[in-house]
Amino acid sequence: MNVPFSYLRRQFAHVDEYLSDLRELVTTGALTLGGAVTEFEKAFAALHESPHAIGVGSGTDALVVALRVLGVRPGDEVITCTNTFVATVSAILHAGGQPVLVDSENGYVLDVDQVEAAITPRTRAIVAVHYTGNLADMPRLRQLADRHGLKLVEDACQATLGMIDSRYVGSWGDATAFSLHPLKNLNVWGDGGLILTHSDELADRIRRYCNHGLADRDTCVEFGINSRLDAVQAVVGSRLMKDLPAKSARQVANAARYDEAFGALAEWIDVPVRRPGVRHVFHLYIIRVQRRDALLAHLREHGIGAKVHYPLPVHLQPAAAPLGYGVGRFPMAEAHGRVAITLPVHPYLTDDEIGYTIDQVRRFYGA
Ligand SMILES: *Cc1c(COP(=O)(O)O)cnc(C)c1O
Repeated sequence: MNVPFSYLRRQFAHVDEYLSDLRELVTTGALTLGGAVTEFEKAFAALHESPHAIGVGSGTDALVVALRVLGVRPGDEVITCTNTFVATVSAILHAGGQPVLVDSENGYVLDVDQVEAAITPRTRAIVAVHYTGNLADMPRLRQLADRHGLKLVEDACQATLGMIDSRYVGSWGDATAFSLHPLKNLNVWGDGGLILTHSDELADRIRRYCNHGLADRDTCVEFGINSRLDAVQAVVGSRLMKDLPAKSARQVANAARYDEAFGALAEWIDVPVRRPGVRHVFHLYIIRVQRRDALLAHLREHGIGAKVHYPLPVHLQPAAAPLGYGVGRFPMAEAHGRVAITLPVHPYLTDDEIGYTIDQVRRFYGA
């Protein structure tokens, strides 16, 4: 049996409807901004019960722009977690900030006690990463940010439709970044991203900044950048968004099946404790296991697209050397690199494929 990590071939096995949407778009001539983008933004905002969504060029741009518009200036410290995709940290640098890293807790998201300990008079903002689709402790982080007068950005690039106590991602951050990369929860046919915000003023500023800082066609009020969501991608995204809640529910159900099966293999497998009240959306299904590399090889030999996210945490990447964090500084993230394994969990898997994957893990441990 073959259990692929990527679902793109299954998702786009039939594309006629997408192509006819695109044919219609081309006849309108509105290929940058325009109706298709506005419609997509409105639907995405409504899906997350937020007043404003602004389409941008990528998830990375969403983070850079959010931080800049929230006032990060050279020398400002921005706290985030080393257990994330590299773009969270590069975005802080490109916004002009100085990344200050902390370790993660058992559920792979940033440890709020360590965030608190890392605050200095130079701290300007916190970027809370909802890594793997698990949510950081946002109510506590919001309180902490308010107490210290800090801006709070949610990196929700892996957490579309995530919730805490029935409130969606984006409910706590001053601004929240999403990615529409082909392998993210809501995807398009290339790159794209979105920013959610509850502030009317911030929404206007973000929109303007991402469109060259133009207040109108002929008036540039600040030198911005060009980072707009392509109308082509908005059209694809609008069609995919229609069954996103159902797909997301299916993905959560797949993860629950894994959790139950692996809970019985606690001698070899550590399934993180799932925090009550959190709707973890499982962009990645990651467990910590014994004999990780051998398990990975076994699963691959048996056609299962298992992976490691990520073998080397951000603070140990060559690019991070100037940040000055050495080996041993963040033990959770470093252990994660050695013992974590990611299993396919996407909504296009069949029940048989999930069952087969569980079986192969059991067999490997002789259980
Ligand atoms: C994917 C991702 C990004 C960057 O998004 P792009 O659309 O690829 O630029 C940032 N942060 C996290 C946590 C991500 O997973």
